[in-house]
Amino acid sequence: MIVDERMISYLHSLERKNSEILEKIEEEALASYVPIIRKEMQSFLKVLLLIKKPVRILEVGTAVGFSAILMSEYMPENGHITTIEKYEKRIPIARENFRRAGKENCITLMEGDALELMKELSGPYDLIFMDAAKGQYINYMPEAIRLLSEEGVLVSDNVLQDGDIIESRFAVERRNRTIHSRMREYLYELKHDERLETAIIPLGDGVAVSRKL
Ligand code: SAH
Ligand code: MG
Repeated sequence: MIVDERMISYLHSLERKNSEILEKIEEEALASYVPIIRKEMQSFLKVLLLIKKPVRILEVGTAVGFSAILMSEYMPENGHITTIEKYEKRIPIARENFRRAGKENCITLMEGDALELMKELSGPYDLIFMDAAKGQYINYMPEAIRLLSEEGVLVSDNVLQDGDIIESRFAVERRNRTIHSRMREYLYELKHDERLETAIIPLGDGVAVSRKL
């Protein structure tokens, strides 16, 4: 938790309900321990989509399709989402959820490893939502930049690792050390790459928003 728990509860208490289908899928996902974007990130994405109006969206990390369906409700009418997932157990659930939400025509699910599939894509995408394996973001970065349209926006979720990011490498549990150093490297690159302007926001589990220059 990087933001005080009472603050989060208060902010959540202000939220309006999502569409019926999103409420249902969120409930199912939480009950089966499928990770999905948190309330504050949902709200942030909605506003960002309404401001940016991205027509072509790429999502890395579908899980069961919650965030893709949420984005599809806030993108322009002619918008399209391509979303990537490699975990076989989640793919059929995501497909079924897209069907339930009536979104099969505007969401394309690609099955397989994100890095391999990104290399095959040509884009360009007006918005890329990065929400897969945190230790891989640094490897996805060159492809993400290549795939972004001229004024494209890259949103990277979970970049502050429950606050671990500010701890020294040695204070972090051994099994998390590789991810820790890779995420630090990723944030450094996002902030120092001359092709991007990036803001790192301590919202949810930390989100980085980058605009291609
Ligand atoms: N965006 C979703 C949550 C995604 S959770 C939502 O908010 O609804 C992260 C997902 O990334 C997991 O389902 C995991 O299986 C997937 N993932 C992790 N590494 C991946 C990879 N290398 N290629 C494709 N998907 C990957
Ligand atoms: Mg996430």
